[in-house]
Amino acid sequence: MIKQKIDKNANNINNEVDLLWNEFKLKPEILFKAKVLESSVYLTRRCNLKCQYCKIVKTELPDELSMDRWIEAMDVFESLGVRFVNIAGGEPTILKELPRLISHITKKTTMAHSLVSNSLFGETMLRGLVEAGLQAYVASIDVDDTAGSKEDDIIKAGAGIRMLEKLRAQNVPYLCANIVISAKNLANVVRVTETLSNKGIWVNLCPVIWGRGDKWEEVEEADNDYRLTRKHTDRLQKIAEELIALKKSGALILPTEQYLQDLPVYGTNLSWKCFSETTPSAPTRLIVDADGALLTCINMRGKVTDKYSIFDLKKEGLYEQFSTDWYDDAKSCKGCYWSTMVTAKERNNMLQVFKKEVLKGHEAKR
Ligand code: SF4
Repeated sequence: MIKQKIDKNANNINNEVDLLWNEFKLKPEILFKAKVLESSVYLTRRCNLKCQYCKIVKTELPDELSMDRWIEAMDVFESLGVRFVNIAGGEPTILKELPRLISHITKKTTMAHSLVSNSLFGETMLRGLVEAGLQAYVASIDVDDTAGSKEDDIIKAGAGIRMLEKLRAQNVPYLCANIVISAKNLANVVRVTETLSNKGIWVNLCPVIWGRGDKWEEVEEADNDYRLTRKHTDRLQKIAEELIALKKSGALILPTEQYLQDLPVYGTNLSWKCFSETTPSAPTRLIVDADGALLTCINMRGKVTDKYSIFDLKKEGLYEQFSTDWYDDAKSCKGCYWSTMVTAKERNNMLQVFKKEVLKGHEAKR
């Protein structure tokens, strides 16, 4: 009975080609006790690049977790019922022991995982990751709007594309490209998405989230040339329609149709919220900083950060306390439209529906 309900839910999502959900290993006993489905970690805040827009590397932490502690953190995720961990940074591949972590996730946990990297690593790391069982690799792809360019020329991310090709040759199951839609690349987003999809690469799309991060209040600091504003609504509408048509025809596009449909609105006003403004709601993703502290949001070290580390969540009842404090932090946020957070929320909503249905079933049997 429970299994049927999960399958029913899973199928609803499958219709929308939700790649992640398919890898979640939906066992009723895990789902029922799951506090949260997804997690993301900044393995390190250090990086071998210094990109102008990156806020992560601008905050240095006095102590970062050792690889042994990260491995322990993965076991805490597993005990909380987490189904997916995204490993990001900074640049995770600057840590030589990264393959040991991937191997632990693959062999000692039931979680799916992905690795986000700038692709500037050598053959030893590549071999290590493949041997460890790397499941999904995400490369950032910059898209340029230069008029008259050929398709491959408008994908200005040589290292990312080359690494995706190398990993394909090594049979890494999921290859993904992340595209940030900005005022600079509107003309080429759809073409690049189609080109990548034709190469067998999954595409995640997200509007540029200007000025939101450690300094949410300083929206005006963002570069005007990149921002999406109301004047871009019509173009975004057309892009959304074309992307939806591509997705319907089988293109490898990660965000759901609903996400794409709402792109013209939320992509310009960034007012989507991961929390309910009327009733306390739980964290969308569990996000852990390089020092093991829990974050309020992708790059916001809020009040919860001073109070909780991932290891505190081993204690019975602490997750609920963390959730309450998290909600107090989150309420001050004006919103965003990060695709990973939007889809994580959709999946968490499904988890809550599933739990309610199971509980209703128990009540009915009494
Ligand atoms: S709405 Fe939620 S996910 Fe978006 S920036 Fe605010 S806290 Fe983060």
